[in-house]
Amino acid sequence: MSVLQLTSAVYDAIRAHGEETYPHECCGALLGRRTDGGWRIEASVKARNTRTDSARNRYGIAPAELVMIEREARGRGLSIGGFYHSHPDHSAEWSPIDLAEAHWVGCSYIIIAVAQGKAAAVNSFLLAGKTEEDKRFTAERIEILESRKTRFESKKRAQSS
Ligand SMILES: [Zn+2]
Repeated sequence: MSVLQLTSAVYDAIRAHGEETYPHECCGALLGRRTDGGWRIEASVKARNTRTDSARNRYGIAPAELVMIEREARGRGLSIGGFYHSHPDHSAEWSPIDLAEAHWVGCSYIIIAVAQGKAAAVNSFLLAGKTEEDKRFTAERIEILESRKTRFESKKRAQSS
């Protein structure tokens, strides 16, 4: 099972975003680095939900916005490691539409359940497979990195370099 590491700041930010946009879906990108077992996400970027026609159960990031997010990631020495969106008053399980609209094989897709305006369960799914035809979601474990640990680790990195 792959592991998605999230800093506690990212975890709090994406949950807050889901509460902010309730009863509509929120969506955004996750920036980080690859690890042996998955991704370590260090930043999240809010995106505008382009699905204004049916924002309660569809989400989408405009291509132009995605280009800007990729540029931001590169500028910070990070890559796009996945995406997140919320499910207002619905479980944190992926839908057939979620799978159809997921195209980044090897990336993580987080779903945040928001129940009556409050963020509830958070699940992550790795988009596994090689092509559009055999892609599938596999559940992964979320590991929250406490900010104290993150600070300690970045200090250690700074000393060793
Ligand atoms: Zn969904």
